[in-house]
Amino acid sequence: MSTVDLPAPTVRRRPFHLLAKPAGAICNLDCTYCFFLSKELLYEGSRFRMADDLLDAYIRQLIEAHGPAPEVTVAWQGGEPTLMGLDFFRRSLEYEHRHARPGQRIVNTIQTNGTLIDAEWARFFRDNDFLVGLSVDGPRELHDAHRVDKGGRPTFDRVMRGLDHLREHGVQWNALTTLHDANAGHGREVYSFLRDDCGAAHMQFIPIVERTTADALPLANDGWGARAEDRPLYRQQGDRVTERSVTARQYGRFLIDVFEDWVRTDVGRVHVQMFDVALANWYGEQPSLCVHSRTCGSALALEHNGDVYSCDHFVEPDHLLGNIGERHLLELVDSPRQRTFGQDKHDTLPRYCLDCDVRFACHGGCPKDRFDTTPDGEPGLNHLCAGFQEFFRHVDAPMRTMAQLLRQGLAPALIMRQYATADADRPHNAPCTCGGGRKWARCHGRPVAADPS
Ligand code: SF4
Ligand code: SF4
Repeated sequence: MSTVDLPAPTVRRRPFHLLAKPAGAICNLDCTYCFFLSKELLYEGSRFRMADDLLDAYIRQLIEAHGPAPEVTVAWQGGEPTLMGLDFFRRSLEYEHRHARPGQRIVNTIQTNGTLIDAEWARFFRDNDFLVGLSVDGPRELHDAHRVDKGGRPTFDRVMRGLDHLREHGVQWNALTTLHDANAGHGREVYSFLRDDCGAAHMQFIPIVERTTADALPLANDGWGARAEDRPLYRQQGDRVTERSVTARQYGRFLIDVFEDWVRTDVGRVHVQMFDVALANWYGEQPSLCVHSRTCGSALALEHNGDVYSCDHFVEPDHLLGNIGERHLLELVDSPRQRTFGQDKHDTLPRYCLDCDVRFACHGGCPKDRFDTTPDGEPGLNHLCAGFQEFFRHVDAPMRTMAQLLRQGLAPALIMRQYATADADRPHNAPCTCGGGRKWARCHGRPVAADPS
């Protein structure tokens, strides 16, 4: 039976999200922290291009797996998906139209490094309502610290050119900013750059935690892409991290630094994923991010050859669920193995997490980062725990306020008035509200310093 014919099984449907990698791990850049580049080693000899019959089967199975749902998201990721060329995505739209149920809305998202986006791509995205996630790590110097091309050359100008095309054409876009050793100490600068210089209204901050074993650490420090000699395959193993990885403390401080600006001027105007997720947890709703949900397992990854993995962060042999040419996507998504994967997020929490005062907001973070030990020696603590605790405790009072406003049917943005009133009476030499140890007038009490680049 060919991939095109495989019938939809009759199993219970539950919401899920699939990141498809039509070009596998192949990318035109060589960002030093991008461990995904090493996944090329999983498919040595492959052309790394999703074949047309597989694309058709994927779209059909994805839509079937969503049953009568009014909306289905087709999410493209990489590597760099724009390397597939526009015709690939035009064909994808044809298959979407062919397989969608009457009245069903198909939403396309694409995550890109932006360097190949020209006017034609931007027009295509706008005309077909693509939501574009653009990777940008901050102002020039911070962005170029790790986001370089195969020759090690900076990419900032190329990304900004791509962004200009997106903005000129009115494409919906989000900023995806990874946090690492270079930019994590510059929360306010990164935030104001994304908001004011780039015009971002939606931002995601993604902590870089490159896990490795002690033996592989020197090689891992050299990077995972084409410029690194003898790069290993990245796996979720070991309890060391590369020198580029963000520390727990840096992550917590970054979020607090951004929050202290956001809560004064941008609530309801700029959407920072982590703040939306936190508010959902304080309000008692299911958050949109698996990392801070009780369980996970509904965000899977599809490789260019039809292989499905439990999660984008677990594209490695032990977490291969099967291939959509042999088993219907819905069967893989709903398999006992995948359910266990998701349930384990909660069931493997150490006692320290179970007793934690902010567990309702944190839920132990992503299992991929749980390789530290708790103060009482139990394994399985999240490497970013100290940062989570600092951030969630810091935002407790304002999150309670915003959740209360929501319950009253009022806009959370009203909290900005409270901050304005309190700030008006704040002595210049009072400690800054961010808790960073500096005086108010020298910290969040004054506009952010100019672009550090
Ligand atoms: S392993 Fe982490 S990234 Fe993957 S689905 Fe679970 S929480 Fe999300
Ligand atoms: S903050 Fe730390 S202890 Fe608390 S739930 Fe999160 S990872 Fe566990």
